[in-house]
Amino acid sequence: MTDNKVLIVGSVGLDALTTPFGHVDRVLGGAASYSSVAASYFAPVSMVAVVGQDFPAENVELFKARGIDVSALEVKDGETFFWAGEYGEDPNQAITHATELNVFADFKPTLPPSHRSHPFVFLANIDPVLQLDVLNQADSPEFVASDTMNFWIASKKDELLEVLKRVDLCLMNDAEARMLTGQKLLVDAADAILAMGPKYAAIKKGEHGALLFGENTHFSAPSFPLRQIVDPTGAGDSFAGGLVGYLASTGDTSESSIRKAVVYGSTVASFDVEDFSLRRLASLSREDIQNRYDLFTEIARF
Ligand code: AMP
Repeated sequence: MTDNKVLIVGSVGLDALTTPFGHVDRVLGGAASYSSVAASYFAPVSMVAVVGQDFPAENVELFKARGIDVSALEVKDGETFFWAGEYGEDPNQAITHATELNVFADFKPTLPPSHRSHPFVFLANIDPVLQLDVLNQADSPEFVASDTMNFWIASKKDELLEVLKRVDLCLMNDAEARMLTGQKLLVDAADAILAMGPKYAAIKKGEHGALLFGENTHFSAPSFPLRQIVDPTGAGDSFAGGLVGYLASTGDTSESSIRKAVVYGSTVASFDVEDFSLRRLASLSREDIQNRYDLFTEIARF
């Protein structure tokens, strides 16, 4: 495996999830959980986050089993971040029933010296203030990617715009891109996002794939044609983790490498949605990923 380490900050929490395939309660969730596990198939990962005393030890064991450095995963008095979400027949449409920040509400991340020089940084979905805190403590990383969601666009837009000034690649789903920019067409939304600072914008379209935009770039990746989407939660985070993990594994951040990274991200995300929580995502092999990646190249060839 590469020596290029990936630093990931974002939510680690417990989710209550309802989909047409059933209901699960207080299962492992959070953007940093999905993205760290996804990235761990490609590169060494260090996670920065906070959980409460109620966070089950088996979840930390799952991270460790994937080789993830959890030395900056703090355990604080109080309750773990909790999100309750539901999906109906449309897997691209998450309905949020509850967001309880709990220990994240007054979290101040402190990067240990060993984490400051990681060349790849992924600011997964969490309060943009925390994303900035982490960025301010990192020593000029080679490549920074960020994600966010409607919750933060609505409540912390100015802080989010500060983050976007400082990232190489920003990820968003189609609805969030429209919400942030006020543009209906995704090409216009992408132009508006690029004008905010990032070199690249990746717009996720759920079961319809992902688009990558840069100053002179437009790349369209398909999604894998699954017959069953059991739980869409974390697809976007797995996509991002796979994408950044792949870039770290090659150390190559050229446009052609980012295109491949988008397909690796889509590949990992396609596994994530096959079961609830991280059940499928955490039990892959590098060979599973490579085989499906190869199928992707077939789907997109003409
Ligand atoms: P995704 O399906 O990729 O959008 O991400 C789902 C994960 O994001 C869930 O596991 C939630 O725990 C987490 N999440 C939901 N709302 C928020 C929020 N406002 N900030 C950070 N993470 C969140």
